[in-house]
Amino acid sequence: MQADVLVVGSFVQDHAWLTDRFPETGETRRALGFNSGPGGKGFNQAVACLRQGVSTLFVGAIGNDHLGAIAQTFAKDEHLPCRWQIRDDVPTAASSIVVDRTGANLLVVNLAANEHLDPEFVRAQSDAFATAKILLVQLENNLDAIRTAFDLGREYGLVRMLNPAPVHPDLDTDLLAQCDLVTPNETEFALLIERITGQRVAAATLSERTDAELHALARKLGVATVVITLGANGCFVSHDDASDRRGDTEACYRLAPAKVKAIDSTGAGDAFSGTLAAALIRFAGRPFRDAVAHANRAAAMSTETIGTAPAMPRFDEVIARFGA
Ligand code: ADP
Repeated sequence: MQADVLVVGSFVQDHAWLTDRFPETGETRRALGFNSGPGGKGFNQAVACLRQGVSTLFVGAIGNDHLGAIAQTFAKDEHLPCRWQIRDDVPTAASSIVVDRTGANLLVVNLAANEHLDPEFVRAQSDAFATAKILLVQLENNLDAIRTAFDLGREYGLVRMLNPAPVHPDLDTDLLAQCDLVTPNETEFALLIERITGQRVAAATLSERTDAELHALARKLGVATVVITLGANGCFVSHDDASDRRGDTEACYRLAPAKVKAIDSTGAGDAFSGTLAAALIRFAGRPFRDAVAHANRAAAMSTETIGTAPAMPRFDEVIARFGA
């Protein structure tokens, strides 16, 4: 099976409880509702990409257990080709999310099998690297597996995309130097800047900075193209001035958010990165800006549905709503 986009990443079964307020320590609180669904940044982004009508292959690890079976069933129903490393020694990842009435959330995740994705298993997928055009990776796996994926991506000449989420404690400049394109949100961007330059920047007020300030900060990451997702404020693009700017005329620019009725922004970043990878294939030959605009709209639409992977919009839905 040949796929244009190869996602090496995580699967997590999400369990979400809705409450009127968070319980105090030791208190049992009755939930107002419960939802369980497939998630994990890698899996969400693979689903987002596939739903944009682009051939996608997901590579990840699960346990030989009930949640692992759920992952496989969802992927089959979605027609998402996957190469699972099924491990007997560790469970499938799971998360608990408690959401209160204000929409704030508390999250605990056991990354389990994702942290044990074997670099050798990744290396064994070299046939998929040989035919793919884009590699998309996040940071919910161990760094050895991630580095192996980037090494293969470079070997086979893929565009290497990193959604640096969540920022890994051992992420370093060497790994960033392996990327052609990164898509941090505001918090991740602030953490990366601090990690690399020692400079502290306030994540909450990033979107208030001028384009010139954001561009100057983004250039410190040493990655050719940086796309900062700004939540309800849209996104910001910064290209290396010395590069071809991926067909864009400007070295940096901002895209306003698409107008939507947001009810659950969980997974919006995943919708953005997965759709961007797909749009780079679908809109090949067009300026990068067109692909980012499409991702910005798809991510906005994903906030109108509860859940993560199941909330990813389809290509035709995005075009019907916002145009090409
Ligand atoms: P993450 O989920 O990683 O924290 P963000 O919150 O930055 O990512 O959201 C990713 C993208 O989703 C944004 O860049 C934007 O395109 C879209 N988005 C998120 N929230 C909204 C919103 N309320 N209205 C419109 N677009 C949104």
